[in-house]
Amino acid sequence: MRIVSLAGGIGGARFLRGLRAAEPDAQITVIGNTGDDITLFGLRVCPDLDTVMYTLGGGIDEEQGWGRAKESHVVKEELAAYGVQPQWFGLGDRDFATHIVRTQMLNAGYPLSQVTEALCARWQPGVRLIPMSDDRTETHVVIDDEHGRRAIHFQEWWVRLRASVPAEEIALVGADDARPAPGVLEAIGEADVVILPPSNPVVSIGTILQIRGIREAVAAKTVVGVSPIIGGAPVRGMADACLTAIGVETSAQAVLAHYGADLIDGWLVAEEDADVRLDGVRVVARPLLMSDPEATTAMARAALDLAREFA
Ligand code: GDP
Ligand code: CA
Repeated sequence: MRIVSLAGGIGGARFLRGLRAAEPDAQITVIGNTGDDITLFGLRVCPDLDTVMYTLGGGIDEEQGWGRAKESHVVKEELAAYGVQPQWFGLGDRDFATHIVRTQMLNAGYPLSQVTEALCARWQPGVRLIPMSDDRTETHVVIDDEHGRRAIHFQEWWVRLRASVPAEEIALVGADDARPAPGVLEAIGEADVVILPPSNPVVSIGTILQIRGIREAVAAKTVVGVSPIIGGAPVRGMADACLTAIGVETSAQAVLAHYGADLIDGWLVAEEDADVRLDGVRVVARPLLMSDPEATTAMARAALDLAREFA
């Protein structure tokens, strides 16, 4: 079985671990979000790609959901002692090494997709991880606060402001010129099913779908999505602030309608959202909390069972 999954960070990565366990013989290709990428201290940081790589490679800080296990923060403290900004983004010492290797390779001329493959050679995530694009894109957020109306990097809004200032607009800068990375459209074309994990519908999945040709390629396939919203709230994080910014209500129903019946064939919702309906979409209610590996694997299995109904 050939499976393609689009993925953001924590929600995507945890679900993928369940998918890998549910279907150990499947060939899984993960198309990762790079809209969250940011340059810090001269280093290129790709938080979502790294969260997938560390989670599937056994190096993640399980409690936190991102960053490395057994991490220390000496470099961060030393940078702060020099007064270097920004100080709001948490980079641990072990994590720094990843960004150094990545930046060195990018500066030597390797595209991000090849750099990611090289990093994965160490982590052996058991899936093929491809960034959505080798072209640089960045999610920016328009806010209006005491400093005026301006666009800031998504990470500044998400990490520094904890999305406490309303987003007036969320835009993927560079989207018009970005092409899918090599292998992305091919993998989707050859897939038996495309699975949308419970990643953020706006700044993770929505971002990937904005890259030229990806939405059309995905829509042509059997697509099963897993709702990141349960009972009108995100399970974790501030996805509601992103949905509000694009005028979508925070509900499993509204997120499905936002994706649309042209994209989605099957939609997994939590049991409390069992009344969700959309013409042309088969909706199935299952427990959707990734509380432990077994529950997550059962969720992935439910997504695959739903996909098989369309085979
Ligand atoms: P990020 O890039 O680290 O923000 O991670 P993703 O975009 O991949 O996933 C974030 C989304 O995962 C949030 O909108 C959460 O609601 C969702 N999420 C996290 N844990 C769970 C869970 O246990 N079940 C479900 N259904 N969604 C979850
Ligand atoms: Ca992310």
